[in-house]
Amino acid sequence: MIKRVVIAGGGTAGWITAAALSIQMGELLEIILIESDAIGTVGVGEASIPPMRTFHKLLRIDEQEFMKATSATFKLGISFENWGALGDHYLHAFGKAGKETWLADFHHFWLCAKEKGLANDEIGEYCIEHQAAKANKFATSPDSPISYAYHLDAGRYAGFLRKISEEKGVTRIEGKITRINQNSSTGFIESIDLESGLSIKGDLFVDCTGFRGLLIEQTLHTGYEDWSHWLPCDSAVAVQTTAVEPAIPYTRSISRDYGWQWRIPLQHRVGNGLVYCSRYLSDEKAKENLLQNVVGDPLSQPRVIKFKTGKRRKFWNKNCVAIGLSSGFLEPLESTSIHLIMMGVTRLMQLFPFSGINDSIVNHYNQASSDEFEQIRDFIILHYKATSREDTAFWRFCKNMEIPDTLRQRMNLFVENAQAYQAGGELFRVDSWLQVMMGQGIMPKSYHPFARLMPDNHLREFLGQLKSQVAQVVNRLPEHETFIKSYCAFSGTK
Ligand SMILES: Cc1cc2nc3c(=O)[nH]c(=O)nc-3n(C[C@H](O)[C@H](O)[C@H](O)COP(=O)(O)OP(=O)(O)OC[C@H]3O[C@@H](n4cnc5c(N)ncnc54)[C@H](O)[C@@H]3O)c2cc1C
Repeated sequence: MIKRVVIAGGGTAGWITAAALSIQMGELLEIILIESDAIGTVGVGEASIPPMRTFHKLLRIDEQEFMKATSATFKLGISFENWGALGDHYLHAFGKAGKETWLADFHHFWLCAKEKGLANDEIGEYCIEHQAAKANKFATSPDSPISYAYHLDAGRYAGFLRKISEEKGVTRIEGKITRINQNSSTGFIESIDLESGLSIKGDLFVDCTGFRGLLIEQTLHTGYEDWSHWLPCDSAVAVQTTAVEPAIPYTRSISRDYGWQWRIPLQHRVGNGLVYCSRYLSDEKAKENLLQNVVGDPLSQPRVIKFKTGKRRKFWNKNCVAIGLSSGFLEPLESTSIHLIMMGVTRLMQLFPFSGINDSIVNHYNQASSDEFEQIRDFIILHYKATSREDTAFWRFCKNMEIPDTLRQRMNLFVENAQAYQAGGELFRVDSWLQVMMGQGIMPKSYHPFARLMPDNHLREFLGQLKSQVAQVVNRLPEHETFIKSYCAFSGTK
């Protein structure tokens, strides 16, 4: 019987896991979380994607309370700058463009109109989120049609979830883990020893110890599938700066000579970082490059973080489930890590092994988690592969590298037929694939002939109506900053 869950680690992963388990299953479980103040957390991870809102609703987290506590701003997408080519710019917005038919997605009609000279615009003009982001506008209400996510302060988010979890009965133990004890015949984890001499027993252990993977790797030697041949960046340097301009409602991702830079606007500060490949750029040069390209005064010393892109061979091994950085890492280009944490704990709750752990449940969990990681991996590789940049050795490598067959097939399908799809259970929707492919210069050779059946005047009218509906919605929205001040002004100290 599984009754006592021990969560090792109190970063974003540990506290999301603790909050979800205690809110949903607190009456059935005893939950203990161990964290070490001396070791600390990775301290980054501040941009999210829309499914976070659904997860918060499941946990009955009040949006305004959460945003006030974490200095959060709204996020409508990501602005990609210099990715396809130097000087290029596109937005990966969270919404849908236009209106599809059952036979053909909207972009087929738009491509047809462009070919006939009936449209001379960007596909983003048919998407509310895209236009609102460009205009720096935002508002939400319970029946809002807008798809959005948040930028948030990672440290304050963990603190916010800790408070909820402790109120729901989670026991927090502060201390450094020094030893993990396994059953000598099964290899299952039995207990965790702390520096203080305390030993904590458990039935199920969740490894949220970050890149260290104290349980899943250092103890159970699960193994790691390395994807750095497709995603060669292996380092990041992060620094926080003062906010000197109103927060924009999107993340900025600016491609640089040997990687890319993020800019994440919070209410009280800005998070900045440079993700880079250490084969081409030293840590010292990376720090210099980042500091040259930030706006506002640095609030901290630049901090270097090393990582290896890939995933654990098993996410669940024996009686240990890895959630967060201990389970694998995909660089934050599409802000997917917090989402993967939320999916990991949701899947664990759905499959929770109350009456014992068996292979079928473990295999199912591992397969679903692995598929999810691979689908996101392909989407991220697309950004590097679909470039015409050849101005540095790093970009030449990315442009010419081999890619997974799954991604190659998708790219070919789009180039030949303008077909994009969202596979079963996949995170990224058709519009996401489209925006990145076309945004980075992959234009299809043809489109669905169904679009040609629409008479020219109907097609013109159809597009015109959609565009004016989007413009009407966006015109009515307030400025992002104005809405934040009235809806969720930061309640903490700066
Ligand atoms: C450069 C970078 C940028 C990122 N940006 C984003 C983003 O924009 N969006 C997004 O969704 N994600 C992002 N991520 C990922 C995100 O930061 C992580 O998914 C998230 O912070 C979860 O981390 P974690 O809790 O798994 O690990 P950590 O934060 O490292 O926490 C590990 C915990 O384990 C504890 N611990 C470790 N060893 C011991 C020990 N011996 N004894 C006791 N306790 C121990 C630590 O004290 C800590 O509490 C980014 C990651 C990186 C590296």
